[in-house]
Amino acid sequence: MIQEKAEIIIELLEGLYGQPVAKHMNPLDLLVCTILSQNTTDVNSIRAFNRLKEAYPYYEALLYAPNHEICEKIRVGGLGEIKTHRIKEALKKVKKDFGSIDLESLRSKDKDSAKEYLLSLPGVGPKTASVVMLFSLQLLAMPVDTHVYRVSRRLGIIPDKSSIKVAQEILERITPPSKYLSLHINLIRHGRKICRARNPLHNQCNLQDICDYYRGATSLK
Ligand code: SF4
Repeated sequence: MIQEKAEIIIELLEGLYGQPVAKHMNPLDLLVCTILSQNTTDVNSIRAFNRLKEAYPYYEALLYAPNHEICEKIRVGGLGEIKTHRIKEALKKVKKDFGSIDLESLRSKDKDSAKEYLLSLPGVGPKTASVVMLFSLQLLAMPVDTHVYRVSRRLGIIPDKSSIKVAQEILERITPPSKYLSLHINLIRHGRKICRARNPLHNQCNLQDICDYYRGATSLK
């Protein structure tokens, strides 16, 4: 039942926003980029990432660069000191574990082993690990950010009181394997554009008929 509802939502969202295509990025670049994206906008995190790569085309150079210098390069994305520390600590561990600063060997791992390794890196939580798995390693993981969490609860494909961990488990169970990327990206688009945290634009939404939140709100009127 919920699986069917998820499939209808995927179809409706693709009708609105199209079928997303992921830009290829190697797993380590994506990991660094995702750390930089914490608590900032996409535009600023991409700017910070580009400035970082321009200054340090090789991660070895970044690893041995002074923190204040790195911090300056990524300042545009905010939390410069914290992110510098997280990135350096993650790179150090990757180097220690694999002998070089490279995550390509994760491609040969299964989902659980790749996830376990990524989560062992300092500063890497379930969302960052899932982003790297889905977008770079092509492993079936569903990153749950604030938009995915809010919109999928409002629509009623996950129970309202679910934790983020449970939400991820349910979404991974009910989403067809070929649609993980589509559902993830389109829920974010919908959450930013229409189903905003405050004042969701119900009247502009074509998911009204299957939305639990909307049904609940209108039945009270
Ligand atoms: S009907 Fe309203 S609450 Fe439901 S998905 Fe659309 S905007 Fe969000």
